[in-house]
Amino acid sequence: MSRLARRSCWSLHFKNLHHSLIKTTSSFSTDSTHHPSPPPIRVELTEYAGRGVFASRRIGAGELIHTAKPAVAHPSLSMIHTVCYSCLRKLPNRHSTDDMSFCCIQCEQLSKKKADWSSFNEYCRLQGLKYPLLVKRLACQVISGAVTYDILDVLQPEILSSDQISRMKKEAALLRSTFEDSDFESEKMAFLTEEWYAGVLARIRINAFRIELAIGSYEDLLSSAAALVEAESAVGNAVYVLPSLYNHDCDPNVNILWIENADAKIKALRDIEEGEELRICYIDASMDYGARQRILHQGFGFQCNCPRCVSKD
Ligand SMILES: [Zn+2]
Ligand SMILES: [Zn+2]
Repeated sequence: MSRLARRSCWSLHFKNLHHSLIKTTSSFSTDSTHHPSPPPIRVELTEYAGRGVFASRRIGAGELIHTAKPAVAHPSLSMIHTVCYSCLRKLPNRHSTDDMSFCCIQCEQLSKKKADWSSFNEYCRLQGLKYPLLVKRLACQVISGAVTYDILDVLQPEILSSDQISRMKKEAALLRSTFEDSDFESEKMAFLTEEWYAGVLARIRINAFRIELAIGSYEDLLSSAAALVEAESAVGNAVYVLPSLYNHDCDPNVNILWIENADAKIKALRDIEEGEELRICYIDASMDYGARQRILHQGFGFQCNCPRCVSKD
């Protein structure tokens, strides 16, 4: 989400973007009784950081502004036997031995033709990588026709070093050979070039959300305490289109939460006036000024000038 660098190219894309995004969002809504579609937001260019999301009417504290399904999601490798491979919902049977377990028929149908991912997953496990897993999942969805190969093009990419690019070439080759070994039709894999892989990974690296499900029961509380001891409280990672357009603030007026699966819920933290920009916090807001500045600069490539940072709070 290094939003400063790419402003000019954003202006070019911007005209058609707003309409298509808001249209998509209304179809993301899953609970029409609480938030009539379209949601009370609009995407506009900001003075300081490319595009942002603004309130199109007054929004009350606690209001569910909209929900968003992920463009792509993947479980953490340590959670792969305990959550749905497709939507990251916790499985009732917590100890499946299959590397792909599903919570329901609909989720299973999203992953029709299966390849043997053991070497790709093992590579990621050994290298401690999570984002190539999202690229793998996205490639599967493109091949199955669930999404188009350019679905993430609207997001801003990270600028990659030549080291990163050469590592990606290796990963792209491993991904491609896994599909080939599983007899996927080669014309369906035509999109899977090194350039596609690098472009998608560069976007995923700064736009992925770490998914932690809200604690719903005492049993979950106990298991999440155990998970924290294992230093792994996230069920997985996911990338969204519209939620990635929210800019950052160290004192945000909206937050994103996940209740039972990877569907993101965007909620107002306080009363918001019409025309006000909606901002989320990309990092742990409880950190001090210096730590926040450092992490935002290293992880997202910008210097935060929110009111809290200006007063060095
Ligand atoms: Zn599921
Ligand atoms: Zn700040």
